Amino acid sequence: MPPGGLWDHLLSVDIRTKKSNDAYRFLGKQLLESKDMQSERQHLSLLCDIGELSNLISETKDIDSFLQQTVQLVASHLRADVGSIYMFDETRSELVLKATIGLNPLSVDQVKMKVGEGLVGWTLDKMEPVLEGTACESPRFKFFEACDEEGYNSFLSVPISRANERIGVLVVQHAQSDFFDHSDVMALRAIAAQLAGTIANARLMMMLNKPQPPDADSDVIQRLRFIRGEATVSGFACAPAAKLKPADPLLEHVPDEIFFTGIADFRRAVQKTMGQLKRLQEQLVRRLPESAALIFESHYMILKDPRFVQKIGDDIIKGLPAPHAVRRTGRHFIQLFDESANPYIREKTHDIEDLVRRLLFNLRKEKPGGESPMDHHIVIASQLYPSDLLKMASESVAGIILVSGGVTSHVAIIARSLHIPMVIAKKSELLQIPEGTMILMDAEVGTIYLDPSEHVRRQFQDRNQVRIETAGKSTGMDAETRTADGVRVELLANINLLSELELARELKAEGIGLYRSEFPFIVRSVFPSEEEQLLVYTSLFQEMGDRPVLIRTLDVGGDKVLPYLNIPKEQNPELGLRSIRFSLRYRDIFDQQIRAILRAGAQAGSLGIMFPMISSIDEFETARTAVHEAIAALAKENLAHHASPALGAMIELPAIVEIMDELAQCADFFSIGTNDFIQYMLAVDRTNENVSEYYQPFHPAVLRALAHIARKAAKHDRPLSVCGEAAHQPAFLPFLIGIGIRRLSVDPQFLPVVQKAISSVTVAEAEKYAQQLLEASTLSAIQEITERLRLN
Ligand code: PEP
Ligand code: MG
Repeated sequence: MPPGGLWDHLLSVDIRTKKSNDAYRFLGKQLLESKDMQSERQHLSLLCDIGELSNLISETKDIDSFLQQTVQLVASHLRADVGSIYMFDETRSELVLKATIGLNPLSVDQVKMKVGEGLVGWTLDKMEPVLEGTACESPRFKFFEACDEEGYNSFLSVPISRANERIGVLVVQHAQSDFFDHSDVMALRAIAAQLAGTIANARLMMMLNKPQPPDADSDVIQRLRFIRGEATVSGFACAPAAKLKPADPLLEHVPDEIFFTGIADFRRAVQKTMGQLKRLQEQLVRRLPESAALIFESHYMILKDPRFVQKIGDDIIKGLPAPHAVRRTGRHFIQLFDESANPYIREKTHDIEDLVRRLLFNLRKEKPGGESPMDHHIVIASQLYPSDLLKMASESVAGIILVSGGVTSHVAIIARSLHIPMVIAKKSELLQIPEGTMILMDAEVGTIYLDPSEHVRRQFQDRNQVRIETAGKSTGMDAETRTADGVRVELLANINLLSELELARELKAEGIGLYRSEFPFIVRSVFPSEEEQLLVYTSLFQEMGDRPVLIRTLDVGGDKVLPYLNIPKEQNPELGLRSIRFSLRYRDIFDQQIRAILRAGAQAGSLGIMFPMISSIDEFETARTAVHEAIAALAKENLAHHASPALGAMIELPAIVEIMDELAQCADFFSIGTNDFIQYMLAVDRTNENVSEYYQPFHPAVLRALAHIARKAAKHDRPLSVCGEAAHQPAFLPFLIGIGIRRLSVDPQFLPVVQKAISSVTVAEAEKYAQQLLEASTLSAIQEITERLRLN
């Protein structure tokens, strides 16, 4: 999980708006050029404190004191006599003073003004800052008696907004005339941009905290109402809740009256369930062609087992109402499976529960939501396996909330590839909320609202619309990516699932820089054969034509578990038999994969095969020999194949850093997997939330090692790309450009932002930034440099 939390979210959300972008850039220049180091530090530390303050909001739940602390902090850092926040009330179309230091505290909630009225109203109307040396001399000035603001001459206000949404106005005042200058304007704008997301949420929470009708919800809903989690896969959803493993899977507590009860009803429900499963299966194959798995296999088998359907039918004919009969046989089968010594069969109890739930769903007189229990629902789960995600992908799941911290990276990757918004919220009480409770999740920032009011829903829907429109605009990509001074950077796509190829092509990816070939293995229930792999890999080449395709060989083990692989559990899987180690241990699996890749790439313009987690020259050479042997065997068998693929090493282990010179003699190219590189360099499990603060892409050792790798690759004239998550991070990108990286591979959805970020920096600027970072030896010094860039 990328570290950074709300701070990063705030930045990444707000940085999208052009106005704040300009503000950051301008402010950064001001700060960098400023000779007044004291004031520079003040502005920077103010921004850091605001980031800290943003986190408080979820803990205190006291919005008033949050706003109050904000104005105090802003006023003290800008050495202002007055600091105030006015919030925009859309329903009344007026601004209301919500927090102040310096003005009369009794004026809070009392002073209101229309848009355009006075200097504050004008700020929101024009969405521009107002800087007045002597406010009362301005023709727009309006005196509000309740404020006691006479005597404050200097006035500075900035709008608070997010995308097109108007949120409020932030104001500072000072008794001395001409107290504020242009750098204060920029600082205040940057602060407002940073705070916008948090203040927008504060506004919603204020609405949520308004008293609700007493019978509105259950206790848990009342208690939880608003939760801040971690956005894992971005998106937005508003839908009823469904639990993946519900507490009452057989719906024992649901009143009988809602079900049909007769034998004809049951037979209809069986037919309906069969039809739905078939459709779900077909949908899945369309969305995930490489899965080719019958994921509802056991459902079909049970539905066809006469002991199941016939037993239920017999019971109904004997007079038992259909829902009771379904539950009774369901319980019998669950007990039978549960008692099995075979863990695989025990696991199948969930399938029976799921099937019973579907049958009961189809016996309902009225069906909530869509066609099946999870259709258009937000699914709440405590644990997720790829098979769960596959089932969800076959239904139209609106979003996922995971209540435990543990999400393996491939689960997050599949959810992202399937565009299912996902938030991780460590709140197990969420599992207690009644099924069907309305949930609104904003997986852009990680917030969850339970039973939101109509007003809150409308606000989010409007905001989501803005996001969709903004995203639509950002896809106007150039075919080639260049820095601000015209230097070419190659932009490739990371592909996990074939369904992502379309987006990669639409967004003009120049090729595939990382195909994670383990996904066809992960999303199946048995090993795919050579022929099946051939089909999957062929799609990659067909889609990419002459463009380069770099296929990474199987990277299983660690957190990428193959459920059907019966190998002993390891104590330390990340340090165990994973990646190339697994392939070299199970040569038959490796050989089959290599053959499938070579055959699929027979006509390919440019084929690269790269080996993950290479730890030594010897290991690379063994893997390379395996490829040469496969080429010889295919030639002997007269099967069409690519006879001279480029063979590369992924740099994911620190062990490689010092043997780059020698490795460059045998590898044709390199690709840095920063996700693992950081994990192993810093000995921090990339999926363990408990230590996420130690996962520091900007650790000086990581930065210096990357620069060293880049130097060595250049010295030996070996192409080098970066394909880990760091390759799309705005603050990391200029560093990579600065150390000489000219090839990046990112998830397709990040292509537009990466292109934009690259085009806004010159090589000289990037080199200067990289140099500063490489000279810094502490995390705090580095943070200061990256903050400065973020403002730039
Ligand atoms: C990496 O480690 O950076 C990488 C790209 O590989 P994965 O995330 O698949 O482990
Ligand atoms: Mg890796």
